Amino acid sequence: MENVLVTGGAGFIGSHFVKRLLEAADVDQVTVLDALTYSGSLESLGEAFLSPKLTFVHGNICDADLVHKLVERHTAVVHFAAESHVDRSFLEGGTFLTSNVLGTHILLEAAKRTSLHRFVHVSTDEVYGPLIEGSATEQDPLRPTVPYAVSKAASDLVALGAFITDGVPVCITRSSNQYGPGQHPEKIIPLFVTSLVKGLPVTLHGRGQHVRNWLHVEDNCAGIELVLRTGVPGEIYNLGGGTDQTNAELTERLLRLLGADWDMVRYIPDRKANDLRYSMNWSKAADTLGYRPVRDFDEGLAETADWYRRHPERWAPLRRDPSAPLAQIHVPRPQAGDVS
Ligand code: NAD
Repeated sequence: MENVLVTGGAGFIGSHFVKRLLEAADVDQVTVLDALTYSGSLESLGEAFLSPKLTFVHGNICDADLVHKLVERHTAVVHFAAESHVDRSFLEGGTFLTSNVLGTHILLEAAKRTSLHRFVHVSTDEVYGPLIEGSATEQDPLRPTVPYAVSKAASDLVALGAFITDGVPVCITRSSNQYGPGQHPEKIIPLFVTSLVKGLPVTLHGRGQHVRNWLHVEDNCAGIELVLRTGVPGEIYNLGGGTDQTNAELTERLLRLLGADWDMVRYIPDRKANDLRYSMNWSKAADTLGYRPVRDFDEGLAETADWYRRHPERWAPLRRDPSAPLAQIHVPRPQAGDVS
């Protein structure tokens, strides 16, 4: 049925999604376009390379010629590629705007000149900004605060604009915080698990009062696949339904899983902006597409922690000294060129 171009398919969520698509009998070809920034790696695709359906292209979504050649050869695009780490966005706002907004625009420009069946733009609950109470529906205004969320909100508007003015069959997914195997160890769950595995302390912003909704990456990918197959162009779908936790509650669970206690926790000053709570109403995806997250949080978290325990080769080279500035993160560089 489909030849699907997946941008950012060597990242955390994208690689899970690619493996899922490769198992679908009606998907003939999956092409991953990924720049392999510090957060992407060929190892994340691993066994997927055994599939004759997979082609990997090492390239940037801001390269308009490459993007155009690739988009015209596919029937659908699922767009994950983005700068995704909030802490970095305070330091490198320009990189976030370039990849997340300009990169999305370039993909959509290519999509305008082709006859795609679907363009799924993957976004986040952070575009709604913090909510003291209640849950955001797809109609709610965008009130992003941190530069990462601002760049994602802008890219959502660029994508909706391409639907309205040029009829690009855009669907937008907005999902909550993801967890699962293979996430970069700069993000809170892998950072805390790998620190505790190494016997190092973990650091909580403020008093750990911030609330996040944790959704297993496979539940999110199932939702994105539903949107790809049956989503209505021009529509936005919130994909939430995970488990709400303050960061302190999450820390308590992780300490228990790793056999540690609160003397391993250090409190550090909060980020200069740190949204207190995100929450989405996801009944539209449930009612219209049959979306249902099924993974139990405690089980999923235990499996995730176990994956990090068993795979130090995947995260040890990527971990940074927590006292070092972000710019000093070790960035393994792949060989340039295409890989098939
Ligand atoms: P990630 O950082 O693990 O992966 C991003 C991938 O995109 C990497 O492989 C990277 O190499 C690639 N990439 C970055 N810039 C690129 C560019 N200019 N050209 C080509 N490739 C580029 O991120 P993730 O956590 O897998 O997130 C994927 C998408 O899902 C993002 O759009 C993010 O905003 C969204 N999202 C993430 C979460 C979450 O909790 N992780 C939640 C909601 C939405």
